Amino acid sequence: MDDYEFVFVPSIVNIDGNIEGLGIYSKESLAFDALKKKISENWSSGYKEAQLVMWTLDSDDSKAVPLKHMSANVCPICDERTFWTDAVELNALCYLPACQAWIESSDKEMDKIDCGWPPIGYTSQVDTLADALSSLRNYGAKIRASVADDSDIFTHRTLLEEYEKSIEEDSTSNLEE
Ligand SMILES: [Zn+2]
Repeated sequence: MDDYEFVFVPSIVNIDGNIEGLGIYSKESLAFDALKKKISENWSSGYKEAQLVMWTLDSDDSKAVPLKHMSANVCPICDERTFWTDAVELNALCYLPACQAWIESSDKEMDKIDCGWPPIGYTSQVDTLADALSSLRNYGAKIRASVADDSDIFTHRTLLEEYEKSIEEDSTSNLEE
């Protein structure tokens, strides 16, 4: 059996401001997976904040080490409050399944920030987090404008509608079983 020195504890703050625990894990990746699953499956439930901390076992340390401190913001592309920003690692991801806009510090170039929107493969490299946000916002505005022009582009609204339809179909087929 492994000797564990640290434990990893994810938690999330719900719409009423109450903290919900999501278990205790022996690995950071398992704890983060549990957190991501909770956020993905409940993206419309109004969760506001989430944390992942590390505690040392058998120690009287009164402070946990913060590994992630995430908060839900309005997404620059889809306009839903599903854009989770991590203040510790300075990255962000939209947890709306049809959107998934993201911001991350570049692993290839120091001091650069990448951002993108997977549905049509948009990516951009900028200097600051603020630039990444405005780049995504400009892009979101273009998408919204193309909706107004009734263009054929695969828009985020279409994606949202398709996603919502697929959920309805899922729940109907469950009822029929
Ligand atoms: Zn989004």
